[in-house]
Amino acid sequence: MLEVRIVIDQINAILPQTQCRKCGFQGCRPYSEAIASGLADINQCPPGGDLGIVKLARLLNINPKPLNPEYGEHKPKQVAFIIEDKCIGCVKCIAACPVDAILGAAKFMHTVIASECTGCELCIAPCPVDCIVMHPVSLAVENQSLVQTDNYAASQLAKKRYEARCLRKVKELEEKAERVKQKKAELGMLKK
Ligand code: SF4
Ligand code: SF4
Ligand code: SF4
Repeated sequence: MLEVRIVIDQINAILPQTQCRKCGFQGCRPYSEAIASGLADINQCPPGGDLGIVKLARLLNINPKPLNPEYGEHKPKQVAFIIEDKCIGCVKCIAACPVDAILGAAKFMHTVIASECTGCELCIAPCPVDCIVMHPVSLAVENQSLVQTDNYAASQLAKKRYEARCLRKVKELEEKAERVKQKKAELGMLKK
């Protein structure tokens, strides 16, 4: 068991931590678990590209293979940008962001923290007014956004933020379940 966990950690350390779900799993860690258990192939991560596949193949002592185009194509990293004049403050992008890289509150303009955006694109589809666009990292740097250009540092920051978000989500679910339980108990008492 410990050995499997070590392999999962090693696979996860190779994955780019974009958390985009393009591999068909809910994030890099779940994909790592699927690879380790033989449920997924090593060529399903477009952000990791061919270099990532070679690293995974080396780790697992198997032959590399080309990126499976069914999962998308490898492209240079981008960051999201919100056209703030168009934003209606619906918070849907915040709910979709796997690394909490968007700031804003209901009915207020939202903005992306460029240094924390992994370029996963998960915020684009939920936006009802199409005001989120992707910019190449080079343009964001030109615009003097604080973009992480060190790939390893960026992936570690994304991993940390993704894990923190997952823990928070679990806690929120537990708290919600507890509230429902209490409510039911109160209603049960009222009926008696
Ligand atoms: S970067 Fe995206 S496609 Fe690659 S493993 Fe992570 S979630 Fe999956
Ligand atoms: S801001 Fe958008 S593109 Fe950037 S990490 Fe969050 S969801 Fe992904
Ligand atoms: S989803 Fe679009 S409109 Fe809604 S808060 Fe985010 S950027 Fe603004």
